Amino acid sequence: STQRHADIQRTKTVCTYCGVGCSFEMWTRGREILKVQPTEHGPANGVKTCIKGKFGWDFVNSDKRLTRPLIREGDRFREADWDEALDLVARRLGEVRDAHGPDALAFVASSKCTNEESYLTQKLARAVIGTNNVDNCSRYCQNPATTGLFRTVGYGGDSGSISDLEMADVVLMVGTNTAENHPVIASSLKRAQKHHGQQHIVADVRRHEMAERADLFLQPRNSTDLVWLCAVTRYLIDNGYADREFIDAHVHGFEEYRRSLEPFTVTYAAEITRLSEASIIEAAERIGRAERVCGVWAMGVTQHTYGSDTSTAISNLLLVTGNYGRPGTGGYPMRGHNNVQGASDFGSLCNIFPGYQSVEDPEAREHWRRGWGVDWLPEKAGFNNHSMINAVSEGKLKAMYIIGEESALVDANANHVRENFGRLDFMVVQDIFFSRTAEYADVVLPAAPSVEKEGTFVNTERRIQRLYQVMEPLGDARPDWAILADLGRRLGHPWHYAHPSEIMDEVARLTPLFAGVSYERLEGWKSLQWPVAADGTDTPRLYEDLEFHFDDGMARFHPLEWRDSPERIDDEYDLHLNNGRVLEHFHEGNLTGAGRINDKLSEVFVEVSPELARERGVETGSRVRLASRRGEIELNVLVTERVTGHGLYVPLHTREGNVNRLTGDHADVAVETPAYKEIAVKMDVLQVD
Ligand code: SF4
Repeated sequence: STQRHADIQRTKTVCTYCGVGCSFEMWTRGREILKVQPTEHGPANGVKTCIKGKFGWDFVNSDKRLTRPLIREGDRFREADWDEALDLVARRLGEVRDAHGPDALAFVASSKCTNEESYLTQKLARAVIGTNNVDNCSRYCQNPATTGLFRTVGYGGDSGSISDLEMADVVLMVGTNTAENHPVIASSLKRAQKHHGQQHIVADVRRHEMAERADLFLQPRNSTDLVWLCAVTRYLIDNGYADREFIDAHVHGFEEYRRSLEPFTVTYAAEITRLSEASIIEAAERIGRAERVCGVWAMGVTQHTYGSDTSTAISNLLLVTGNYGRPGTGGYPMRGHNNVQGASDFGSLCNIFPGYQSVEDPEAREHWRRGWGVDWLPEKAGFNNHSMINAVSEGKLKAMYIIGEESALVDANANHVRENFGRLDFMVVQDIFFSRTAEYADVVLPAAPSVEKEGTFVNTERRIQRLYQVMEPLGDARPDWAILADLGRRLGHPWHYAHPSEIMDEVARLTPLFAGVSYERLEGWKSLQWPVAADGTDTPRLYEDLEFHFDDGMARFHPLEWRDSPERIDDEYDLHLNNGRVLEHFHEGNLTGAGRINDKLSEVFVEVSPELARERGVETGSRVRLASRRGEIELNVLVTERVTGHGLYVPLHTREGNVNRLTGDHADVAVETPAYKEIAVKMDVLQVD
């Protein structure tokens, strides 16, 4: 994986910027990154990358990196050495546990960290402290999508590979800005559309690039995707497009499900969604006539009060048309963070052990208790990322340990989050930068980013890939796994891992999903898609034998009903605010904000439709204040046809003008993912440019 030519070193690594999981060689001289070179060996990307993978690495050498542990003294922080900092952390965590019980502590794992690090985070919470209060940022994004798959087909992961997406006749994209968020997958889809006649049906409230290029673009009213998806499915059944043979042999519950679709006529759907009846029928006809259909979705679906249900509606539709288990078919939630799939797979969720075994299942608990050599494990599900904050305000949670998560910016209703961080008795932040969240910490631990350590990530295709160490950690920074192992030892557990491969060996031994995973089998450019059998056979496509992941091998239809968003648009809060990423930036912008890539797009703005601009007398460059029922921010206007009518859009990568000052407390009813995409705002004009 590492080759030297004179003083130039080439090391294989994996991008940290999105779930596509591009791998490439990084050319370095010392700490200087000379270039990023994809090769034809990259299993997910081949020779492709996007601007972030190619140019987004300046943060590694940023002078803002944390290089020493910091300990709070009053309003200030002072530098400390590792022994002092970790002794303090171990002592204070122990004290909080002794005084208030293990459930007074909570851990937030990072979806940017490696699988091995996520595994150790949840092991620290469960086996050392004794709480299931551990979660990762999939709570903020992907949990509803996973729920839709759990309910219907059983595994919480993309059902096929990127090559299946390329093979599909029709790709249905719902609430996914693929061109900006998963650029390399988008380019594969664009090529399939151009050269192989693939059809794209795109549904989104915003007319982004994939919408512009779509064969059919649907722009429904916000939070109504479930309605037209159910209407399309009903139309397919009513018009003889259902795959009855597939359904009868492989799916439970068709009759009950069919009855649940009765309200969803095309006329009803058109009324609720404001789509034309013709466009709903056209979508159904295109899907019905296609041999192979893939469903692709992302945050535009999940970050809603009924995001789990809408995700389920997509999977139901695929089951009705027999679009699982064959080449070019399946359901594909596009995973956002580089390792959000892996963080969940390896157990950093408040209700599951690694490999998706419930913490409430006594057999699973006994298995892990023995595997970890501890006396007991907590029996009930813990607080998730989002409910942790309310637990602080209720006095139930006294200490938090947050790894690589900018919670103060990325959780909904940021003002409320910050207030509650201020109430904690003890808080640890482990990160590569002094984040906004770190401002509330008692101890800040300097971690190493991906290029300074070894480990593995899982991409959106369930593909496990190795990353190799490109350079030494900066200053005193340490890999997260090494920090966690050190802390585990200080808390009295024999955590003598010398290398992340030993952590993976432990996972493989204890987790059937990863039984055959080893660093050897992942050497160099090799990869494995889970589940991986003990002999090393992996699974590029799930359900190929039409065995779904339930005890009886049958998939399940899940009946649904529709309710409107609880966030009311009224006379005062009369505009709908949508938000998300832009191509040049990643998430809250802590990484991409620290380098050249920031120059491409350093300022954040609010997109305003030409109609609304005329109505309010604003133009590009005007200054406005957006206020929701929770808070307010000020931004410049960008007039664009990407949004229509009273719909607005704000990129979420800014520290100032952070959109989460506006988002609220309502969340997905099944899994509590904040409904980031449901915000009613009013707009005051401050200055017309
Ligand atoms: Fe990185 Fe995603 Fe771009 Fe690939 S597509 S280079 S994984 S950000």
